[in-house]
Amino acid sequence: MAADSGFPWDGIESFIFRMLRHAGHLVSLLELSVLNLTRRSPVLEPRPYTDFDPDSDASIEAMAHVKSLLGFIGEDPEREGLLDTPKRVVKAMNEHYWGYHADPFEPLARTFSEVENYDELVLLQNMDIQSHCEHHMVPFVGKAHVAYIPSGKVVGLSKLARVVEIFSKRLQVQEKLTAQIANTIQEALQPQGVAVIIQARHFCMCYRGVKQSNAWTTTSKLHGVFLENPAARMELLTLIGSNPGRD
Ligand SMILES: [Zn+2]
Repeated sequence: MAADSGFPWDGIESFIFRMLRHAGHLVSLLELSVLNLTRRSPVLEPRPYTDFDPDSDASIEAMAHVKSLLGFIGEDPEREGLLDTPKRVVKAMNEHYWGYHADPFEPLARTFSEVENYDELVLLQNMDIQSHCEHHMVPFVGKAHVAYIPSGKVVGLSKLARVVEIFSKRLQVQEKLTAQIANTIQEALQPQGVAVIIQARHFCMCYRGVKQSNAWTTTSKLHGVFLENPAARMELLTLIGSNPGRD
């Protein structure tokens, strides 16, 4: 989806300036907004999303429901073009919601401590996120930035991206997604600080309801030094503002 072309870099800059000016106030507001969103959710039987079995009882039942939804919107589910649609939809859902079958702590289980005492900021920027809102089951897409300051141990960078992916591939609200990623990294690595910033466009707001197709939503969750130390927070926001992926 066209998340790249329309990404509001001006938006993130103004967000950074706003955050610098009102950092304490904003942080306490965001803290409030993610209260009670941090409980661990259960992990189903682990499996890769490619493990789709169209002949399982669960798949057959789900396909029957899709077929009845086709009738509900006024379609003829028996016409040729729609015969395989229930199967395709259920297969796609298996991929969209694969994250229920993965443990977000698993990618962070292997850490490295031989890092020459590196204890400065590690920032992974501009990760694509594709998730689905839990209210309408339609996509929200955007970018995630994840930062942490190690405390004796680091993880492989791709593992941070994997944590983002696992939580994204579940039904979400953006605030909860942001908090779950930050809280998981905080709990698993016990670093000096963690910061997660997500900017996303919500299709449920673009194409229905208020039809705000250019509205981007920004959320952040900070832990440790990013919360307590304005200099650490400023370094993070300056680095994100100097965005290396910017065209
Ligand atoms: Zn929605």
